[in-house]
Amino acid sequence: MALAVQKFGGSSVADADRIRAVADRIARTRRAGDDVVVVVSAMGKTTDDLLRLADDVSSVQPGREIDMLLTSGERISMALVCMALADIGIDAASYTGSQAGIVTDTSHTNAKILEIRPGRLLSALAEGVVPVVAGFQGVSTDNDVTTLGRGGSDTTAVALAAALNADRCEIYTDVPGVFSSDPRVVPNARRLHSVSFEEMMEIAATGGKVLALRSVEFARNHHVPLYVCSSFTWEPGTWVIEEDPLMEQPIVSAVTCVVSEAKVTIIGVPDRPGVAASLFRTLADELVNVDMIVQNTSTEGITDISFTVPQNELAVSRAAAERLAPVIGATSVLVDENIAEVSIIGAGMKTHPGVTAQMFEALYGANINIEMISTSPIRVSCVVRQEQADEAVRVLHAAFELDRA
Ligand code: ADP
Ligand code: ASP
Ligand code: MG
Repeated sequence: MALAVQKFGGSSVADADRIRAVADRIARTRRAGDDVVVVVSAMGKTTDDLLRLADDVSSVQPGREIDMLLTSGERISMALVCMALADIGIDAASYTGSQAGIVTDTSHTNAKILEIRPGRLLSALAEGVVPVVAGFQGVSTDNDVTTLGRGGSDTTAVALAAALNADRCEIYTDVPGVFSSDPRVVPNARRLHSVSFEEMMEIAATGGKVLALRSVEFARNHHVPLYVCSSFTWEPGTWVIEEDPLMEQPIVSAVTCVVSEAKVTIIGVPDRPGVAASLFRTLADELVNVDMIVQNTSTEGITDISFTVPQNELAVSRAAAERLAPVIGATSVLVDENIAEVSIIGAGMKTHPGVTAQMFEALYGANINIEMISTSPIRVSCVVRQEQADEAVRVLHAAFELDRA
């Protein structure tokens, strides 16, 4: 008898019919003889709706209260899934993150899991009861309700799988696995049979939101077998696995895109030691997550520095840059929200020269201008105009023949 953690995302529990279908799937796993711990997200777009409601009510939104508000979404799902299970004769009990023993730090809206005390879940399993856990939430060391950041139910599922030493963690979503690109943008994207943890982390970090980045990091660090598949069909899905050093890796596996970044440019920066240090220290002190950085070659000792940040950190980044500009003797600060970052990802890139050139040629062929570039050993990312983002993704998907088996 194996133990599976099964996580169902928002679209998988979006309405009464979907909830009954989820209960049916859990029941089949149980009747096949396996134990199951279920993790659920809030129904459909509930989390977005609650955030909009908060915006309508107030411009002052303490993290503690946002967390209290958002965690209610997952509570609705967990209770309804238990009722649907009861209806088909499966004993189940719901648990909030706190009841499931998920202890986090005190960083409201983006808390990190510190510890899992799975006692109650283990007792439920021992009694033959299916625990249904509210995803995306925990309880802080200060005894307050916290959330784990958007998409955090994936992290709940993987963390529970690790803590319970589960045989597998299954992520059920609205597409049948991890694809060579977002199937909503690239209709002929292909499902990947498997993807390495390294590639999956790059995919998740550059816009492939099918798995939350932290869940993939957690799975890799704790060796959790992770499987992504559809809750709508019975097709096979995608395994996320350790890279096999003996196997030849695909040169490019996936193309991703992020449109939620903004570019900040500081014009007329004196080119002398210490200037970049003070700029990025100021941003780090504001807890800004700087992504790409470009510094132009200087002419007559003056240069421009551009960097990208998440749009929701643009206001503090801009304020910090504007505060610092006169101090370092820079001329002005420009911001640009109309950007997109497109990336190609593939473990085989490490050993194949020419991939970057091919990417640039493909974008050039479609008359798409590259504004910034960054790379990792298995990724190349380019900033382009936001209105050209979807075209850039499709052009790169075709150039690397990702629609072919
Ligand atoms: P859930 O609510 O189940 O957590 P998400 O909306 O968070 O689902 O993630 C699933 C979505 O991720 C898909 O509907 C798809 O549009 C998007 N997506 C983006 N990139 C990819 C990719 N490379 N492969 C699969 N899905 C992707
Ligand atoms: N409901 C949360 C969100 O929408 C968590 C999740 O779905 O994983 O971000
Ligand atoms: Mg998700």
